[in-house]
Amino acid sequence: MQKVNASLPLMEHFYTLQGEGRYTGHASYFLRLGGCDVGCVWCDVKESWDASKHPLVQIESMVKFVIDNNAPIAVITGGEPLMHNLDELTLTLKKNGIRTHIETSGAHPLSGDWDWICLSPKKFKAPLPEVIQKANELKVVIFNKTDFEWAEKFAAAVSPACMLYLQPEWSKSGEINPLIIAYIKKNPQWILSLQTHKFLDIP
Ligand code: SF4
Repeated sequence: MQKVNASLPLMEHFYTLQGEGRYTGHASYFLRLGGCDVGCVWCDVKESWDASKHPLVQIESMVKFVIDNNAPIAVITGGEPLMHNLDELTLTLKKNGIRTHIETSGAHPLSGDWDWICLSPKKFKAPLPEVIQKANELKVVIFNKTDFEWAEKFAAAVSPACMLYLQPEWSKSGEINPLIIAYIKKNPQWILSLQTHKFLDIP
């Protein structure tokens, strides 16, 4: 069992609008934790991988960032945030009336008390069944056309209430978007997720 942390490695934090998935457009405070051992080749936050490169910040201070901005939602992202025990962080956020959302590859055991779990599985390290079953949102990044079959494997394993999103990998979107659009028209249980923050040029 992971030890409960009083502080966590924080790579960056900022108040913005959620750009992807079910909560697109919702004001959200992002806390990006350092540390990831998943190793996606197309990762756009490789600086997050080494947790020791990021300062340890007290959980109380992190929650204060969110409170001071009156943000209704805290999004805990990474890196792979589940490399850390998130019980204390989510408890403190919830005590202050803040919704707790996580973005995870699901590759590490679930900790924390979550209002919304976005599972974005990665081929480089498989998600654990306990995270797959608790996901509220499955967001599969499509990098090439074989990824649709891979996405269906997870769609079959999540709970019936879990929302299903397909999102083009940003650098391949020119060639992948038409395939995703055609796929969703044939398989309307899926919804398109775009990285709207990148179009808006906001964090
Ligand atoms: S899980 Fe996320 S942070 Fe980790 S390598 Fe993959 S894309 Fe990067």
